[in-house]
Amino acid sequence: MPYLLIYLTKLIPMNNKIKVFSWLGAIAVPTLIAASVLAAPAWNYPDAPAPLGVSSWSQIADPTSTAPVPLNYPYSECGVGEHQSPINVNSYDLVQRTGSDIINFYYNTAEPLQLLNNGHNIIVEAPATPTTPIPVNTCLNSGINLLCPIPTPDKLYFGTVQSYDEYTLVQYHIHVPSEHTYNGASFPMEIHFVHATPDGREVVVGVIVQTGVYNAELQKILDNAPPTGTNVINTIPGVTINPNGLLPSNKSSYVTYAGSLTTPPCSEGVNWFILTNFIQASSVQIAQFQSILQNTPTINRPTNARNINNLYGRSVNLKP
Ligand SMILES: [Zn+2]
Repeated sequence: MPYLLIYLTKLIPMNNKIKVFSWLGAIAVPTLIAASVLAAPAWNYPDAPAPLGVSSWSQIADPTSTAPVPLNYPYSECGVGEHQSPINVNSYDLVQRTGSDIINFYYNTAEPLQLLNNGHNIIVEAPATPTTPIPVNTCLNSGINLLCPIPTPDKLYFGTVQSYDEYTLVQYHIHVPSEHTYNGASFPMEIHFVHATPDGREVVVGVIVQTGVYNAELQKILDNAPPTGTNVINTIPGVTINPNGLLPSNKSSYVTYAGSLTTPPCSEGVNWFILTNFIQASSVQIAQFQSILQNTPTINRPTNARNINNLYGRSVNLKP
């Protein structure tokens, strides 16, 4: 039994246990939402702008739906949304962020490595059970329930020292080339770390990858990537992965804006943080990921980046 559950079992009177376990169960909601989307109509890259500049994904009808228009266009938000991602980050658009906002990563080594090829990307699943003990003094006694930290080890904190939000890492995945561009320039690769709160708020951290030195953690994903889109999580026994190896050493500076998922259904309400410091991967590694995409039948091309989207007046902030 994981440490946290043993701890809760010992501390909580029987009539309160169910409440705590319901609270823990809420953590799984973002993952379940993501999985249900996969049963929707087929889509692939590119998300080609139609003659009027509208996302082609938004025009994919659900052939099984008898709902009236527009409800039978499940990806319509990709086209009508005005907070879509990715975007081009222009230096002259950037508004410098004042205040003391911080972004802190608490990622741990996960074992075993869990990978999913969902037919659109290779996804590293964050572990759902604790791998490190949770200190007793981090649990909050509400007077009814004992609320301990979310039982996954990988977290992101955002805010100030006095007041911050806590997000749980759900999964991370790779795009080639980068989805976000800087002053019109794209980069060889971009890694997205997807986080959520139990009430459904989402934060995605984007890390730009330049061509350079070999990255050992990336190689574990490349070497163990499931070859076809089976939508089944592949557990690779004995292989650990440390997501910190996919982050730059200096993580304090970022560009942030309000955006969306970059894949259908392109849901908005996603807070984006693009780190301004980059990491590197070798050209051989980038080519290996391209061939994984090419060899996945539902992708069948060496790229999986969505085109950039109009800002529609959104502000883009820089934390230097
Ligand atoms: Zn992504």
